[in-house]
Amino acid sequence: MKILNNVLSLFYPRLCAGCGDALQHHEACLCLHCQLHLPETNFHKEHDNPLKLVFAGRVKVEEVAALLYYKKGTSTQHILHNLKYNGQKELGDFLGAYYGRQLAMEPRFQEIDTIIPIPLHPRKERKRGYNQSEWIAKGLSRGMGIPYRTDVLVRTHFTETQTRKSRFNRWENVKEVFVVQNGEKVKGQHLLVCDDVLTTGATTEAAVRQLLEIEGVRVSVVTLATATH
Ligand SMILES: [Zn+2]
Repeated sequence: MKILNNVLSLFYPRLCAGCGDALQHHEACLCLHCQLHLPETNFHKEHDNPLKLVFAGRVKVEEVAALLYYKKGTSTQHILHNLKYNGQKELGDFLGAYYGRQLAMEPRFQEIDTIIPIPLHPRKERKRGYNQSEWIAKGLSRGMGIPYRTDVLVRTHFTETQTRKSRFNRWENVKEVFVVQNGEKVKGQHLLVCDDVLTTGATTEAAVRQLLEIEGVRVSVVTLATATH
């Protein structure tokens, strides 16, 4: 099998999702160099980090953190692009597990009960073939040793492209998008919402608002990347 893999990799080399170089047979998703040089935020180590401020005065969240800084032209941009548009869903699992192991060492994240990925609209998911946030949830779940569920938060309406709208209008646009089902299954729990990237926080805010309607629920948020420094 190993010989076959080596022969196959001569013709179809597996490439690093960060820099595009060929991967060694023992490397998964990212080459060693990219793994060692990930632009990590370490926001999970401080309660009052810059990401927490994104939600200040908007919606109540317990903890907010992101694994990587997002900047154009960096490995993070390539990683997110490969995760979302190049079918490399395993990257979500890989980085989710990597981050999950770090989160599991922080007492503030140890009280989390269940991970909830932000759902894609079904139409988008059919087109892409997967929901990248679900793959991140899968990895986080492995790294943190807690379950994830996709049957609690679901998406209803399709949001039109929102890039030209203000933050306020954007929120108006997405507020009806998420609906909670099976709320009784997570009653009284501390939920961890996960997504690929956090920018204005509008989508996440809409999701958190819905989850907070469930009795006794508290919510924290983690993403793979953030543009906030
Ligand atoms: Zn690389």
